[in-house]
Amino acid sequence: MKMVFLGPPGAGKGTLSDMASARLNLPHISTGDLFRAAVKHETELGKKVKDIIALGQLVPDDLTIALVRERLNHGDASKGWILDGFPRTTAQAEALQEVDPVDLVVDFEVQDSLILFRLTGRRLCPQCGKIYHLVTMPPAKEGLCDHCGGSLSSRPDDREEAIRVRLLAYREQTEPLIAWYGSRDLLVTIDGSGAPDLVYSRFESAVIRYRQDR
Ligand code: ADP
Ligand code: ZN
Repeated sequence: MKMVFLGPPGAGKGTLSDMASARLNLPHISTGDLFRAAVKHETELGKKVKDIIALGQLVPDDLTIALVRERLNHGDASKGWILDGFPRTTAQAEALQEVDPVDLVVDFEVQDSLILFRLTGRRLCPQCGKIYHLVTMPPAKEGLCDHCGGSLSSRPDDREEAIRVRLLAYREQTEPLIAWYGSRDLLVTIDGSGAPDLVYSRFESAVIRYRQDR
């Protein structure tokens, strides 16, 4: 199954992708994670995208499409995948349909107030990538990853100013994809509010309904 997880920043795409990836045995491909890894390892790509990401702007389509194209060529992506954070523009969606067409797009709906709460409280383990929230998903030991003991940090683009830029980019460039995929009969919409387990059960029901319909 080839799935795209769509929704604004803070919709819970990363958390839900991790859960779905483990349970459905599909690779979780997050362009945000791939870009952050490139920045961390100071690759050529990383140098190009570092400032763009910190500001909350979108990386240019050509760089992003090349990155995903390369990733989808790995053997683990031949049977299916979960794309998280891609596509974010119509040009990216068109490129994906050419390279490897998607079976199902899951759109996570959340209100702006919840987005802000989630992003400002979000903490990330830079070592293993596990996601926490200061209020709703705190680590057992303050500031330390339960999974690997790494020191938790917040993302540079989770500052309020960058969040505003990201939300604007989402509204202007990514939200039109809801209609784009809807008109191709590839879209299901899910309420993204509530705890991860609850959202996951909504996701599961939507996938079952989708499979029965085909
Ligand atoms: P978010 O929490 O905003 O969903 P991501 O981890 O998916 O964050 O992405 C972080 C940043 O990486 C984005 O703000 C953007 O700068 C860059 N990025 C990720 N995916 C894309 C994409 N498909 N197109 C352009 N830029 C992207
Ligand atoms: Zn960790």
